Amino acid sequence: MRPNTNSRLNLKGLWLEDFQKLLADWKEKPFRARQLASWIYGKRVSDFSQMTDASKSFREKLAKDAYVSDLKIVKTETSQDKSIKFLFELEDKETIESVFIFDKNRNTICISSQVGCPLACAFCATGYMGYKRNLTAGEIVDQIIQIKNKIPKNENINNIVFMGMGEPFLNYDNVLKALKIMTSDFGLGLSPKRITVSTAGVTDKIYQLARDLPKVKLAISLHSPEEELRKKLMPITKKFPLKPLLEAGKLYAKSSKQRITFEYVLIKGVNDTEEIALKLAKLIQGIPCKINLILYNPIADADFDRPSMERVNRFREILYPRAPAVTLRISKGVDIQAACGQLKTKTYRKSSGYKTNLIALSSVNKP
Ligand code: SAH
Repeated sequence: MRPNTNSRLNLKGLWLEDFQKLLADWKEKPFRARQLASWIYGKRVSDFSQMTDASKSFREKLAKDAYVSDLKIVKTETSQDKSIKFLFELEDKETIESVFIFDKNRNTICISSQVGCPLACAFCATGYMGYKRNLTAGEIVDQIIQIKNKIPKNENINNIVFMGMGEPFLNYDNVLKALKIMTSDFGLGLSPKRITVSTAGVTDKIYQLARDLPKVKLAISLHSPEEELRKKLMPITKKFPLKPLLEAGKLYAKSSKQRITFEYVLIKGVNDTEEIALKLAKLIQGIPCKINLILYNPIADADFDRPSMERVNRFREILYPRAPAVTLRISKGVDIQAACGQLKTKTYRKSSGYKTNLIALSSVNKP
């Protein structure tokens, strides 16, 4: 049973300064801010009665005026390679999805930052769903908390990638707060170098993250070295053109003292030619980066195809000697189509007659 939340305050998503303010209002001691943070995020406890180092009267006060929300797992699907796709229900009944990507050397959680997405990239299933709302910082970190609670205890979480639904930089404040919760010792205790924020290219927020938390890794979804083609594939290019975007990426690599990643979804006959590979190699000269080639995952709304492996290899061969590093993303969880967008779609169709037959958003990551 979920608590009756009408008048109570949800503590999941609050961070140290929020707790301090709340405790001051409640005339409670400030040290309890860290206590609350480490119970909720560090120990992943949502039930106040289990917060054993808090006094009985404080726990009663908490139970009366506050609660700690938990995302509800509506559905999971486990693939043969042990990757798990989660469909979560939020308090307002919206749904999002996240993927636990199993790898024997390092496990990754792919999380969402928005319900839907306003960017309408031509090849992306979430884009066709439209935009509903931003996730709160609590809803962002809770994806990790709930997945950690569900997977076997001996499985580590090595990487977090913001490559689920949504554009993290259009929800900057909540994403930043979530990043602080994730990377603090009182929070989830994750190293910032193991977290990748992926953006379609919101240039000003790249500069802002370089000021606020440059240790986090940055990925830019590039998908074309040509301004005009990029505008067609990713309409956000009209607002944030390529050249200043690349300058921001270069600055970020410098501030963070680590390579940025350019994601590049290869689409047959669209952005996979030898000529384009050469252009791409030229464009990224001087930027400390890695290019992550991704095979396009076909979606029903778009009339695109996946290139042949021959073509992919040719593209990679051209790029490889000219770029600092090139990787090819290997999809995991293919048998459960663990590409973002799908679980949500199935549920939509059942409950509301949502008619499109969306297949996949992104393949899962092997950085
Ligand atoms: N909005 C952010 C993060 C979410 S998408 C961004 O654009 O980076 C995560 C990655 O999946 C992006 O690189 C995106 O371009 C890619 N992607 C989207 N649709 C895809 C598809 N059909 N096939 C393969 N990758 C896709």
